[in-house]
Amino acid sequence: MQILSKSKLEEALNQLGKNAELFVPLARGEESGFYPWSSYQAGSDRLMLDALNVLLPPKSVVFPQTERMYSFTSTGPAVEIKETFESPQPRIIFGLRACDAAAIACFDDVFLTMGFIDSFYQARRDNTTIVAHACYEPGANCFCEAMGVDPTEPVNADVIIRDAGEVYIWESKSSKGEKLTAALGSLLENKEAAAPGLKPFQQQANYEGVAEKLKGMFEDPIWEQLAATCQTCGICTYVCPSCYCFDIQVKSWGEEGYRFRCYDSCMYSEYTQMAGGHNPRGNERERFRNRFLHKLQFFSERYGKPLCTGCGRCIVACPAGINIVEIINNIKEADTSVRA
Ligand code: SF4
Ligand code: SF4
Repeated sequence: MQILSKSKLEEALNQLGKNAELFVPLARGEESGFYPWSSYQAGSDRLMLDALNVLLPPKSVVFPQTERMYSFTSTGPAVEIKETFESPQPRIIFGLRACDAAAIACFDDVFLTMGFIDSFYQARRDNTTIVAHACYEPGANCFCEAMGVDPTEPVNADVIIRDAGEVYIWESKSSKGEKLTAALGSLLENKEAAAPGLKPFQQQANYEGVAEKLKGMFEDPIWEQLAATCQTCGICTYVCPSCYCFDIQVKSWGEEGYRFRCYDSCMYSEYTQMAGGHNPRGNERERFRNRFLHKLQFFSERYGKPLCTGCGRCIVACPAGINIVEIINNIKEADTSVRA
């Protein structure tokens, strides 16, 4: 077994950051998220490897908030692509939890399967190495296990680290992981260490059968009640590690320009606004219903798993106190027979 002593952690991060852009969980001012290790300021930043989840997930490493796609020149109706912007530089996400690793697996499903390859995503993903941090003590808002995620065995990991007191157990899981292991050299030691047992979850979501049940609940009055306090602010989609809605826009000046894509949110009315003015999801209830049907039913029908990995971030961030665990349980318990 290989271990990394916590006393050598910063040295190890410096070593890994030599050959790749290294992203680590940091508390920075009033925010927390995955930031480049090269921007770490001792004294003002705080490394958050011991925290369960930082507020912003690492999705921007593989799916940036704004991403240039290509530049062009246009002469009359003729358009010439000048340059495309797939980003090939190596990156490492260090210390993401099982829920965030599972969310990147959902992105892989969307952008790389079903006969469709998104070359921009693929370029980033191929050049990204994932060092996942196994969880043994679920936080107050964690419910990943209920959504089919094993917190102690993160999927999609090239390396798994496990907190064993004074050391991290280091387990390489892929050829990318082997490269990191080799790069750390003698910073890793061969020693035995034991990971703790998994503690019980405080949040109890009962998702079993919910995807199937939702098929008959599109017009159910429950959506009016569940959406009543939603302000459609979109924060839940922004902090969610698995939300991937985007828009494609163009910026042009004269005959020059570039296309870019940027995050969008299904909670915004413009998201489905059509050119003629019609909006199939014109009110809050319809947008709210769509978000939860996508997470809990539609994605599951297409990819065999929900588009929620139980990270709990939307529960923390929602200004209206909307709690996805309560929503899942309300749907599970709803007596739809009396509404027929
Ligand atoms: S964060 Fe809460 S209030 Fe804002 S859109 Fe999401 S569910 Fe609605
Ligand atoms: S829907 Fe909420 S709990 Fe589920 S993955 Fe997204 S932010 Fe996390």
